[in-house]
Amino acid sequence: MKAIQVQRAGGPEVLELTDLPKPSPGPEQVLIRVEAVGLNFADILSVAGEYLVRTRYPMVPGMEFAGVIESVGPGVEAYRPGQRVAALGGSGAFAEYAVVSSRAVLPVPPSMSAAEAAAFPVSYYTAYFALQTQAQAKPGEWVLIQAAAGALGTASIQIAKALGLRVVALASREEKLELCRSLGADITLLSTQNNLVEAVKEATGGRGVDILMEVVGGAGFAQSLKMLAYRGRLLVIGSASREMAQMYPVSLMKGNQSVIGVWLTPFLSDPAAMQAASQFLFPLVASGQVRPVVGERFKLEEAAKAFSFILDRQNTGKVILEP
Ligand code: NDP
Repeated sequence: MKAIQVQRAGGPEVLELTDLPKPSPGPEQVLIRVEAVGLNFADILSVAGEYLVRTRYPMVPGMEFAGVIESVGPGVEAYRPGQRVAALGGSGAFAEYAVVSSRAVLPVPPSMSAAEAAAFPVSYYTAYFALQTQAQAKPGEWVLIQAAAGALGTASIQIAKALGLRVVALASREEKLELCRSLGADITLLSTQNNLVEAVKEATGGRGVDILMEVVGGAGFAQSLKMLAYRGRLLVIGSASREMAQMYPVSLMKGNQSVIGVWLTPFLSDPAAMQAASQFLFPLVASGQVRPVVGERFKLEEAAKAFSFILDRQNTGKVILEP
């Protein structure tokens, strides 16, 4: 089968099209014919050897995808060949077929296309865990979403609105802000504008935001802290700048503020947390109230081009690879 393999740490140039044996499912595993792969910033970091877990090479990237079940291994009762599902595995989806644990499989409502299903798991579960589980958002609160036109950003706007929050969306270009408004963002601001802290304060009646989804890190981190309201929670979700951030924890005391980490991976082995998230997310998706934003689509062999597209900040919504 066709697959994209990586032999050493690097950027888009290390993604190589290759031919690998079709895998077969072991006990409690499912073999899926991949129809669409959702690309994540984490895939880029993982290929570069800069992710939170160590990358072992050679590897086939790809942590979320949708497709049709080809066969199931011994002990799998919940799924059968022919079903369309989404999956949230660790790696291996940049291929025509992928094997995942049956626990990594998610049902897909018939109303969703393969690309939409592939755009769903990482962004929507992360948005829910960030806003509801970690920040304990309350209706009427203000949330600021960075990179709001991206995959996690567009999902976060939709989840924030479903939770009754008021949204300040930041993005680097006017067309991106247009997309954020179409998804319900109340205030949209260019992340590049001068006096951003003052603009956020002004938009929130001088208070600042109750919750801030920080995904860029680096030098902007200090600025984010200044945008927080009294008892505000800054969620550390990513560091797209790939730069270190500095903070002085004592500065949090004055406003009784918090800085909270958010990482999807540990939640995947927390059945109660996953169940709570699924119970919230599935009805929203099934009713169409929430719909993943599918961005640019690339062929599997164009994986390097797709990585560069995200690194150049061209994308809106989730970039999709199609085998
Ligand atoms: P996106 O689709 O949001 O694409 C990345 C976006 O980040 C770009 O479009 C760009 O938006 C913005 N950006 C800001 N600075 C840079 C930079 N220096 N280089 C490239 N992009 C930059 O990607 P994802 O939705 O996959 O991820 C968004 C962020 O959320 C990442 O930091 C990722 O690691 C994190 N994340 C964390 C998760 C977790 O479990 N903690 C789960 C999912 C995502 P703009 O041009 O508008 O600034």
